[in-house]
Amino acid sequence: MFMNGCFDLKNCRLCARQCGVNRYETNGFCRCGASPMVASVCVHKGEEPVLSAYKGVCNVFFAHCNLQCVFCQNIDISQNSVDVSCRYYTVDQLVERIKEVLQTSENVLGFVSPSHYAHLIPTIMDILHAQGFNPKVVYNTNAYDSVEVLQALESYVDVYLPDFKYYSPDLSYRYSKAADYFSKASKAIKEMYRQKGSTLITADDGIAQSGLIIRHLMLPGCANDSMDVLSWIAENLSVNVHISLMSQYFPLDKPLPDSLNRFLSDEEYNRVVDYFYDLGFHRGWVQDLDRELTYKPDFDRMEAFER
Ligand code: SF4
Repeated sequence: MFMNGCFDLKNCRLCARQCGVNRYETNGFCRCGASPMVASVCVHKGEEPVLSAYKGVCNVFFAHCNLQCVFCQNIDISQNSVDVSCRYYTVDQLVERIKEVLQTSENVLGFVSPSHYAHLIPTIMDILHAQGFNPKVVYNTNAYDSVEVLQALESYVDVYLPDFKYYSPDLSYRYSKAADYFSKASKAIKEMYRQKGSTLITADDGIAQSGLIIRHLMLPGCANDSMDVLSWIAENLSVNVHISLMSQYFPLDKPLPDSLNRFLSDEEYNRVVDYFYDLGFHRGWVQDLDRELTYKPDFDRMEAFER
């Protein structure tokens, strides 16, 4: 079994929040203790085409979250009624369910919001490998990750899928109580880039085998911040990185600060997308702006590009 000091839940520093709490006795900012709580293990067809392909990804949707964004698009899983809609699994139960779902999905296993349960990934994968299951592993994260943890996961993760959310400390504090989000996430994404580089390796069937895809969700009222995020990637990583530029933001049915209680405007969308192309990005997906479709990740309405 894989052991690593950065996975010690008695002094939890699993994610960039670095709470240092004993999760066997109390919950950290992420609201989770030591036992894994999971919302769902299911086939999911809403990821980028290189991940979902035809049959979809076997996604493990972990409950709770280490950011708790005020506008969270998956609020039922990350913040609300988790004890009702989600349930505790043992690692063995989780492995059995993953094996079951992998029978009907592509051979791709996505861990969604994994930062606060990252210590489980080596254990789960060691068991799966020993039983002859070798899915490609996707680490689908908000990027508020610990670099040390990412280094410990290097041999287990095939595709990093971080959502690079904010540049401004003011925004990240107001929306996610994490003034240091950019400082920590940029270091985490640099580590992912060190491990995977700019090349997204795909198999003959088009499914990603290894690489990095950086997502960015455009928020209403935050076009300048989106442009700052994109500039940073172009200047500090490469314009050859695969980017997934998402417009699917929808306002929750609750009071939200600033402009978050509306959809993205055409003007904001066009400004960010134009800037994105002007910077020279040329690989990935740009989501259409369609306010009629207010449901969650749907990459059927994404335009793929590779120039
Ligand atoms: S996973 Fe992050 S937010 Fe949760 S207790 Fe550990 S350090 Fe805190």
